[in-house]
Amino acid sequence: MGRDERGVTPQSEDFSAWYNELVAKAQLVDRGPAKGTMVIRPYGYRLWELLQGELDQRIKDTGHQNAYFPLLIPESYLRREAQHVEGFSPELAVVTHAGGKELEEPLVVRPTSETIIGEMMAKWVSSHRDLPLLLNQWANVVRWELRPRMFLRTTEFLWQEGHTAHADKADAMRETMLALDLYTEVARDIAAIPVVPGEKTAGERFAGAVRTFTIEGMMRDGKALQAGTSHYMGTNFAKAFEIQYTSETGRLELCHTTSWGMSTRMIGGVIMTHGDDKGLVLPPRLAPHQVVIVPIGRGDQALDAARDLAGRLKAAGVRVHVDDRAHLSPGYRFNDWELRGVPVRLELGPRDLESGTVVMAKRLGDEGKQTIPLDSVARIMPGVLEDFQALLLRRATGFRDAHTRTVDAWESFTDAVTSGWALALHCGSAACEDDIKAETAATPRCVPIGGASETGVCVRCDRPATYGTRVIFGRSY
Ligand code: AMP
Repeated sequence: MGRDERGVTPQSEDFSAWYNELVAKAQLVDRGPAKGTMVIRPYGYRLWELLQGELDQRIKDTGHQNAYFPLLIPESYLRREAQHVEGFSPELAVVTHAGGKELEEPLVVRPTSETIIGEMMAKWVSSHRDLPLLLNQWANVVRWELRPRMFLRTTEFLWQEGHTAHADKADAMRETMLALDLYTEVARDIAAIPVVPGEKTAGERFAGAVRTFTIEGMMRDGKALQAGTSHYMGTNFAKAFEIQYTSETGRLELCHTTSWGMSTRMIGGVIMTHGDDKGLVLPPRLAPHQVVIVPIGRGDQALDAARDLAGRLKAAGVRVHVDDRAHLSPGYRFNDWELRGVPVRLELGPRDLESGTVVMAKRLGDEGKQTIPLDSVARIMPGVLEDFQALLLRRATGFRDAHTRTVDAWESFTDAVTSGWALALHCGSAACEDDIKAETAATPRCVPIGGASETGVCVRCDRPATYGTRVIFGRSY
């Protein structure tokens, strides 16, 4: 741990140390005993619950239903889709013994649930009238990650996985893009992360998918974070699991399927998009406490007034917390809530009580502390929080744009990816992607949707560019 007991290493000095110290000191997570696992503490879990609530509502509003499938999957299921098993094999945790005996068939701890859900879909779909089948599951999954990082890449993580079956390609592609839109909206409107939606190149595709789409966010060290993915599987899983239906004309047809997932990684995205040297900065829509009231002084007077104010804020729909830790100095408590990213702090001392005012300090912004009438607090707070939410999105958008460069020369490319993203034309060859990665550590993040049409030559090898638009390259998590 760097610095004094409570502070964190500045981002500019060591971004990764800043992150690792912060997630622990803000009491979001703790290390789990098995390598790469994390304990999500109540403050971190509340953040996840709030994100989950927003996403779950949208998933239901668009016609999907939640269900739950088993954690353990027969190993043979994964083998049925050749690319799927090849892609996931190195990351699998496999149960070989149970009940004191060796199992006849090993069971895989789900790394994702296409196979077991595919098996059930085959059972549940028989006619065109059964389609589309729109399912979602909230669950934990296990992938044996070699370079684990809290939230970003843990061996066990929480997520939702949407799985849908459709009569044809057009309907399945509509669904794939609908899920991507949901993710883009939740990232932007709830987490205040201005992600770029786009398509992955062939080398970055999900194992078993025909097309993979992603939302990419820029973190404050200029790196990219893949914050959610949506896959069009074609008929690959339908063939492997015999997900078929009888069409209106009586013909037996294969379904087209999709899957899409967003995980606890998003919390890491929130931390690295908005946080600063003082600690977390939480978007109000995700903040466990949107407002913290710190009563100051001895006796019960300030505490009573704080509780009264909290009651009025709660009635106005604000998530509020009273910090009644009288044994800690006001300064300590102020720093603590700054570290933990609370958008608005209200200080209530003896002098404020006399004058009927309260001191308001926002976590960001250049207004400094403001003194406001106590009886106006509950009325203005929803607006203050909305403004704060909007400020975060504006700030993150400004940062992303300032660290994205359109480049045509190789020297400019290598320079751009040291501090952010490069928008470049690319030939689309896997060998050229590998070459770029070996030299710069940057990979194609996505081919942005709605990017301006452009043709020309590859930034690296001078062969004709594919995709018809510029590709985002960057280093990534
Ligand atoms: P995938 O099923 O590989 O498309 O993953 C779906 C989403 O889960 C990705 O877009 C990531 O945001 C997230 N994800 C993948 N692996 C991990 C991991 N080890 N820890 C946390 N989140 C992950």
